[in-house]
Amino acid sequence: MNYNIAIDGPAGAGKSTVARMVAKKLHFIYVDTGAMYRAIALFFLQKGIDPQDTETMAAQCRNAEVSITYEDGEQIVLLNGENVNRLIRTEEVSTMSSKASAVPEVRARLLDLQRGLAAGESVVMDGRDIGTCVLPQADVKIFLTASTRVRALRRHEELQGRGIAESLESVERKIIERDEADRNRAISPLREAEDAVHVDTSDMTVEEAVDRVLEICREKMA
Ligand code: C5P
Repeated sequence: MNYNIAIDGPAGAGKSTVARMVAKKLHFIYVDTGAMYRAIALFFLQKGIDPQDTETMAAQCRNAEVSITYEDGEQIVLLNGENVNRLIRTEEVSTMSSKASAVPEVRARLLDLQRGLAAGESVVMDGRDIGTCVLPQADVKIFLTASTRVRALRRHEELQGRGIAESLESVERKIIERDEADRNRAISPLREAEDAVHVDTSDMTVEEAVDRVLEICREKMA
């Protein structure tokens, strides 16, 4: 039997870290849908497309072939056959992915890939619209969140760890902007599914958040 676990929430809530660890514990595949939007955003940046030019994005996205593969359990995102994992974690790509993800043609391009993965395997899939749109029949739906300040602090620490200097205020401002864009777009906005379990990780360690999510999964999958 295949199980589908959907984890949605705003930027910096710890979705990827938690989802990856939960998938490992359950021996499920981890699918990071944000990375797919980031790959398309990278394609647009490489083409020199303006972040406001959604018309060109709609027309050009058919030339971006996104697929994923796994190496030692890690998801590798391929853009037109090239591994782009190391190129998609910049702030420039974050901002562009938020713009690109509001373009219906871009979302349509990734939907089949996401659903196809969940149809064939037990997955933990994270994103913004997994429980509401991509996998509305998911066995478990989690809405993972944390206060804006905590999310900004986590993202700031992550950037520092990668040697990227940016003030906490600037990181926080971009997180707020990205959340607003994700929540207010017309198509598949970031929204908590009615049947999702709300988990606020503001005062939790990663281990505590993983344990809480595993507890919910075990309850729902029993
Ligand atoms: O999760 P991550 O921050 O990597 O996602 C990058 C961007 O991709 C988000 O800001 C959001 O705009 C978009 N996204 C989305 N739907 C998803 C996953 C990500 O719109 N399921």
